Amino acid sequence: MSNESAPSTPSEATSLNAAPIVIIGSGLAAFTVAKEVRKLAPQQAITLITREQGFFYAKPGLSNAFGAGKNPAQLIGSEQEKMANQFNLEILSHTDVTKIDATQKTIETSEGSMSYSQLVLALGADPIRLPIEGNAADQILSINDWQDYAHFRQALEAKKRVAIMGAGLIGCEFANDLALAAYEVDVIDPSAQALGKLLPPIAGQKLQTALASVGVNWHFGKSVQSVNRLVSGSLELGLSDNTQLSTDLLLSAVGLKPRTALAAASGITVNRGIVVNRYLQANLPHIFALGDCAEVDGLVLPYVMPIMNAARALAPTLLGQPTAVNYPAMPVGVKTPALPVVVSPPAIGQTGQWIETETTDGLEALFKDEDGNLKGFALLGSATSQKSALTKLLPPLLA
Ligand SMILES: Cc1cc2nc3c(=O)[nH]c(=O)nc-3n(C[C@H](O)[C@H](O)[C@H](O)COP(=O)(O)OP(=O)(O)OC[C@H]3O[C@@H](n4cnc5c(N)ncnc54)[C@H](O)[C@@H]3O)c2cc1C
Repeated sequence: MSNESAPSTPSEATSLNAAPIVIIGSGLAAFTVAKEVRKLAPQQAITLITREQGFFYAKPGLSNAFGAGKNPAQLIGSEQEKMANQFNLEILSHTDVTKIDATQKTIETSEGSMSYSQLVLALGADPIRLPIEGNAADQILSINDWQDYAHFRQALEAKKRVAIMGAGLIGCEFANDLALAAYEVDVIDPSAQALGKLLPPIAGQKLQTALASVGVNWHFGKSVQSVNRLVSGSLELGLSDNTQLSTDLLLSAVGLKPRTALAAASGITVNRGIVVNRYLQANLPHIFALGDCAEVDGLVLPYVMPIMNAARALAPTLLGQPTAVNYPAMPVGVKTPALPVVVSPPAIGQTGQWIETETTDGLEALFKDEDGNLKGFALLGSATSQKSALTKLLPPLLA
């Protein structure tokens, strides 16, 4: 990385009386940075700018809302006004940031321009859209924020069947939740198993069996090529093996792409995500990034725990005490109540092998290197109780 150095000295960093710290976004990353800064600096002016409604909600709750008995309104944690009052924030909602001028330390928004002392990009990610043919291609839904989910729940009304493209974490969670709510669920994925990027085959098979037992129909080794709305109102999916599948709604859960366009257009280095160093600092001064939009020291980790760690380090950095982020091992829980999963996959390129042990109603899969050191794990069912003990044995992701 070219920007390895710490953001220089406190004198060059924020002065409490200067322009506000401006945070773009109102997701977990944005609000967590704001809260962490507020803990350290009660007087620091902080402005959040978001194109969304500006309230706080826990995004992970979207994919198990039926199981939790919640409708979209009940998923809202705190309204904008409450967040603004509680943490003494200025929150500009329904406002799009369109340009960053790093030299002038200003941004342009749909509501006018504004100066910042430090700028935090907490922009999130966009769902990947696959090129799919047919007269209903524009009706394919994806869920990556509260608004998407509210729209999805509306679209579900009077429907019985949902097909999901993608058997990854989000696809499996929605499949389980929709099956719990008595929808007919089909999951289509070109790979050979569920959670193919995270689980060894035996573990994938167990999860599939558990989800099949609550009614999920799997279609592996296939992809959706076309989607057409028939006169009857049904959707007809054309699959890559020349078969057809009938459903009512099609949900795409094929992955996310960090939002980098605003940064790239403003001269900020981007790669897979917005490139930042261990201080969450981009290549241009006074500009930082974290969360789903960021590539931190080469890692793009679109999960909650990396955000919490990054926000805790970034707050003192923004206030003039450069603090590098450390990432311990951060296992991810997959919210599939039919068979809960906790996984900490081995790093890409890590050599070794999976060693699997069946437990009463689950599986413990340990990934060990040639010297017997634990480098990753996948725990299913009752084996998830080993999460804390095993996490302590894993190497950190960024030490
Ligand atoms: C259904 C689902 C379930 C999940 N479950 C889990 C889980 O169980 N465990 C886990 O660890 N992770 C989970 N995740 C991932 C986790 O929720 C995300 O990593 C996290 O919420 C991302 O937060 P963020 O603030 O980086 O991005 P977002 O929440 O996407 O926020 C981005 C913000 O930036 C704003 N924005 C972007 N561009 C602009 C602009 N130009 N101008 C103004 N505003 C802009 C957006 O409006 C938005 O407010 C889940 C994700 C999904 C979708």
